Amino acid sequence: MGLLYSELAAAMEQLESTTKRLQMQDYLVRLYLKVGPQDAANVTYLLLGTLGPKYDSPELGVADKLVLKALSIRKGISEKELNDELSKTGDIGDLVKTNLEKKQQQTLMSFGDDDEEQVAELTVAQVHADFIKMAGKKDKSSQSLKLDILNGLFQKATPLEAKYITRFITQRMRLGVKDLTLLEALAFVTPYQWDDHAPALAEDIRSLGALVPEVDINPTVKSVLGREASSLNASEEIAKNLHIALKRAGSPPPEAAEIRASIEQRSSEMRAMVKRMRGRIERAYNAYPDIGHIAHLLIIRGPDMLDDVDVTPFVPLKPMLAERLPSLDEIIEKLGRCALEYKYDGLRMQVHVNNGQVRMFSRGMEEQTGQFPDVVAAVKEQFKGSSIIADAECIPIHPETGEILPFQVISRRRGRKFGLQTEDTTVTLDETQKHTFEDDYPVALALFDCLFLGDVGGSMLDEPYLDRRAKLSEAFELDDRITLSTQIVTDDIKEAEKFFDTAISSGCEGIVAKSVGEDSTYQAGARGYNWIKYKRDYRQDLADSLDLVVMGAFWGHGRRGGVFGAYLMGSFDPETESFQTVCKLGTGFTDEMLARFTQELGEHVIEDKPDNYQVAKALEPDVWFDPVAVWEVVGAEVSFSPVHMCGFSALKPDVGLALRFPRLSRIRDDKDAYSATTTNEVIGLYGSQGKNALWQ
Ligand code: ATP
Repeated sequence: MGLLYSELAAAMEQLESTTKRLQMQDYLVRLYLKVGPQDAANVTYLLLGTLGPKYDSPELGVADKLVLKALSIRKGISEKELNDELSKTGDIGDLVKTNLEKKQQQTLMSFGDDDEEQVAELTVAQVHADFIKMAGKKDKSSQSLKLDILNGLFQKATPLEAKYITRFITQRMRLGVKDLTLLEALAFVTPYQWDDHAPALAEDIRSLGALVPEVDINPTVKSVLGREASSLNASEEIAKNLHIALKRAGSPPPEAAEIRASIEQRSSEMRAMVKRMRGRIERAYNAYPDIGHIAHLLIIRGPDMLDDVDVTPFVPLKPMLAERLPSLDEIIEKLGRCALEYKYDGLRMQVHVNNGQVRMFSRGMEEQTGQFPDVVAAVKEQFKGSSIIADAECIPIHPETGEILPFQVISRRRGRKFGLQTEDTTVTLDETQKHTFEDDYPVALALFDCLFLGDVGGSMLDEPYLDRRAKLSEAFELDDRITLSTQIVTDDIKEAEKFFDTAISSGCEGIVAKSVGEDSTYQAGARGYNWIKYKRDYRQDLADSLDLVVMGAFWGHGRRGGVFGAYLMGSFDPETESFQTVCKLGTGFTDEMLARFTQELGEHVIEDKPDNYQVAKALEPDVWFDPVAVWEVVGAEVSFSPVHMCGFSALKPDVGLALRFPRLSRIRDDKDAYSATTTNEVIGLYGSQGKNALWQ
């Protein structure tokens, strides 16, 4: 029949009554020891207030109104009356419980016996199944279905059960039980289920108890003796009390010392076993964070089964996280030769592919597949194998320039998809709008790790980092939409500094340094020094705008086909009378502006680069212009850049300055190129923001 729901409700009531960790652990261990294999997973989910693992749990939001309706039907009290009572008491779970209790008392008084006693008792499996039937349904017609199910449950439930049914469906479980609490409790369950230390310890405790003279058993000792010692904490507490009682009784018999030594030995062995189990359970959980599944395996098949829990497509793993150090020197000192990568400021995305199906999960293991249909399509098209789990950052890119855009762009896109309030308005998109939206806010995937690859036998977690990463370039057809994170491998501090500057000026928030040694495994769920982040925090736009000269342009693609899609902008250096690049500008234009500028500037195209244009080879545009136009540009900050020529080597050898995240603000018809912002002013801007710059 399985576990009765009343047992679970009783445990929930106990858990709610305490905030002490050990006490909670004890209650949970006792509960798990009663749970059979068929209920282990469901009990676990219900304790957490979910119906399944976090990444796959259907939502169950039942409004208070529906609960009051069911209660009103059950009790024959008007909904208004119940509502008034609720506004006084405030807790709907307690309200349900008290009202059902009242009913029982009245019935007992008026009829002598209670026909409700005849109703079959609820089991955990039934309650879970009923919740599943209610979940995920949001339309109007589902209200009557939910009400029917709730009526059925209230019909059978005791007042206490009804309290926790209510708490659950209205999403107000306040037990303080977290995944970690359960992992710990499960570790404590093991010695009781799968080891003979526990019965031997219980036997020792009984023998010690038998030595305590009847008269010396004080009430505390009596109460613990009467209790089944079903957890290690409880056993140790009982043993301690017996020991005190024996001491108080005068001269304990000689065998007492022997039994006490045996108790200590057994309990310390059990503690060691619990500790080992914790490690194993945690490892399993990090690779397969479905704690219900883990509880099920542990209870049905014992600890050894945990070693078979492995990375599995469509089960998101806990992501590996980075530590931080305050300087690049310290990072190189710590890691030696290491991989340095751009730290993109986007959304962490775990990409799972299995037999042509793609699902993506966020850092918090929430499903993201629906929000990024374009990424899903690209992955489907460009993944060449059978199954993979790849770790990546999803980054907004400029549709024209391919440059990385600020993170807000991606959040705007997510918000819009959900129909949330954005800075513009509340929008719910239909299919055609969605298309435009993806075009306007395209994203790319920067892949950086491979955690599972079906074609080479599954989990990649224990492979060294560079081997894992090498698999990515074999597994995907790479292009602008699916790329590898930009990386160098070095132990040279100068090279590291240059790479950091490039990362910053390319729109990244810093770099992540990664160990490349033999032990550079993927540590799911761990924050450690195998990854070290070093970033620059910028939050605000520059207070000042820059008036920059339009030096050249790049032809647009896609929606911007046939017009200039991005422009090369420079500052003026009066000393050398030259123009020096500061940024590539592709943001802040309307379609109409793009068409107009293409026409107007088209009249000023020149064949060759003028001698006084200082431009790195890598940034040469498709067309050059005479210096006729000055535009006001705003941006996030001025940063070092190895590719831009503004103030080159002025502050740092072989490095210039760039404007990050530039946006067109307005046209400065009133200025000519020689009154544009000077290079010295840009250098000054860099210095002034330095006072406030936040380094992490
Ligand atoms: P932060 O707010 O700094 O991103 P975090 O706690 O989310 O912190 P950390 O582990 O501290 O995460 O930093 C690593 C994060 O950086 C990853 O979670 C990922 O989202 C992002 N990231 C960007 N580029 C990379 C990269 N090349 N390799 C690893 N992580 C990257």
